[in-house]
Amino acid sequence: MKKLLLPLLLLLILNAKAQQNILVDTHNDVLSNELINHEDIGKLQTTGQLDLVRAKQGGLSCQVFSVWCGPQYGKGTAFKFANREIDSLYALFHRYPNKIALVRNSAELRQAVAHKKFAAMIGVEGGHMIENRMDYIDSLHARGMCYLTLTWNNSTSWATSATDETLHHDSLQKAGHIGLTAYGKQIVKHLNDLGIMIDLSHPGEQTFYDVLATTTKPVIASHSCAYSLNQFRRNLKDDQLKALAKNGGVVFVNFYSGFVDSNYFKKSFPFLNQHKAELDSLTKIYHDEDLATERLFAIYKTESDSFRPPLSMLIKHIDYIVKLIGVDHVGIGSDFDGAESYPMGMDDVTDYPKIAVELSNLGYSKQDIDKIFGGNFLRVLKANTGK
Ligand SMILES: [Zn+2]
Repeated sequence: MKKLLLPLLLLLILNAKAQQNILVDTHNDVLSNELINHEDIGKLQTTGQLDLVRAKQGGLSCQVFSVWCGPQYGKGTAFKFANREIDSLYALFHRYPNKIALVRNSAELRQAVAHKKFAAMIGVEGGHMIENRMDYIDSLHARGMCYLTLTWNNSTSWATSATDETLHHDSLQKAGHIGLTAYGKQIVKHLNDLGIMIDLSHPGEQTFYDVLATTTKPVIASHSCAYSLNQFRRNLKDDQLKALAKNGGVVFVNFYSGFVDSNYFKKSFPFLNQHKAELDSLTKIYHDEDLATERLFAIYKTESDSFRPPLSMLIKHIDYIVKLIGVDHVGIGSDFDGAESYPMGMDDVTDYPKIAVELSNLGYSKQDIDKIFGGNFLRVLKANTGK
């Protein structure tokens, strides 16, 4: 009897481990807010979308924290600013050593989850933060950078952004390059060698395809939606999505109302114009226009809620991409704490389970939902880091 009991027990334990749900969100901007407003996201906050208390409630296992600074930072300042944001994340690890830990690969991520710790990763959003120095890539990697978004909305001298390729095509042509330069290709190779994932959420189409022709590892789009459902320049066209799947990559779907719903800006822009004076004074208080816009939307909640698309529209982006390129290539990259509006019902990190319910109602199996929630991220991370 005892002989039978032990293998049975082992099987039960292994089964429980296999069923341990892992939920990963590949894009959140709270770090820059934390730095500006000295918020302690270890404690429950009344603003923003993420803190460790709500993360637990929402079943979030791992967050890739976006390290970001605007294009006003450049040579001599951008890399420093990126490191200050990483410092503030490290301070959080020191304040809450039993609750949160830095992880760098899929093995460490699983280990943190097994030890009931919130797994934190670092994504650097904008190639301008490496200031054209390979040793800065090494340094950010040493501090935990798991992905580099090759550009933000601003281009670098070696890669052009979706914003510039779409709105400033002529001036780019005049400047002499569109897409990835020879130096840009060296950077891609270096990122591949170090096992840092290449994020194509902000680069333009030319850069996108140049990277796919260069990289030896699967890439990601950490926070993007489907262009076919909303023709916004930062959303990915069907051909891009197919190419990404062919490369073995994963697109993590963005929750921002402006990327989800093609009617959003038609409603939000007139509202922002109408409240311009108030927005300007809030910007002075918060030292950041995006944060000020979020606060303005909170003040006029009833009105701003009327701009929000239904949750079903976000689910449509996930389902559309799954149908186009397969369930192995889709994940979650909310852009929480980085935008002023999200679909109805998606107020913060406690709301992820609603997505699982909606997908299940559409007929998605538990295995498929697990892939979208975390399995695909673990796969693409392992393919890059080797662990
Ligand atoms: Zn972004």
